[in-house]
Amino acid sequence: MIDFHCHLDLYPDPVREVRDAEAAGIYVLSVTTTPRAWVRTAQLAKGHKRIRTALGLHPQLAHERHNELGLFEELLPRSRYVGEIGLDGGPGYREHSALQRKVFDTVLRLSDKGGGRIMSIHSRHAVDEILERLAAVPGAGLPILHWFSGSATQLRRATDIGCWFSVGPAMLRGAKGRSLAKAMPRDRILTETDGPFGKGPNGPLHPVDAWVAVKQLATIWGISPGEAEKQLLDNLRSLSASGPDHIRARSPISQRTIA
Ligand SMILES: [Zn+2]
Repeated sequence: MIDFHCHLDLYPDPVREVRDAEAAGIYVLSVTTTPRAWVRTAQLAKGHKRIRTALGLHPQLAHERHNELGLFEELLPRSRYVGEIGLDGGPGYREHSALQRKVFDTVLRLSDKGGGRIMSIHSRHAVDEILERLAAVPGAGLPILHWFSGSATQLRRATDIGCWFSVGPAMLRGAKGRSLAKAMPRDRILTETDGPFGKGPNGPLHPVDAWVAVKQLATIWGISPGEAEKQLLDNLRSLSASGPDHIRARSPISQRTIA
């Protein structure tokens, strides 16, 4: 099972989350919201071979933490994964759009300079801007749009420029989320929980709840949960085979497709 976007460090007991994920054999991408949080969050994953820690600077914190970009640059060589990054054009955040853009553009530029990264991206109310920027810096790496909530047209554009997607139980609960997931290329989807922000009927989701998304995808795809799980693991394998240099060489993103 896979939880490719989870905030392990933000649960009340992160050590317990790591232990439970390990016991259940789950592959976890542990995303962070600030460079400062990365060091101790990466420490949590030490010795756990299925957990990777992504270096992030969350768009909702960009206006408070943009001064950590220097630290981001310093830490970037130590992580193959970047996230959570992105833009948020929703109420309460759009007034900070200039700083959000500065942070996101800097992260893309540094990732490009560093040979490319696998990136977990937040795109709420900002899909067009995100796609424009990804297309402008194709060497930044492989973008995975997490909890995508744009339109069907935006989804097609994202797919055309080579984006992947991570989807979770909270997104797939609604009809819109399910219809978007149905339109995503089946070989470019991973499951996520976005816990503890992602919620289920019993409160915050945990990595083990990624199984709910596997079952939801199985229904959407019209196959068994076992077959869906196999597809998702194949996807993870093909993603992992893309090393940074590899990503740059075969990045499907191009200026041409976005124009
Ligand atoms: Zn998140």
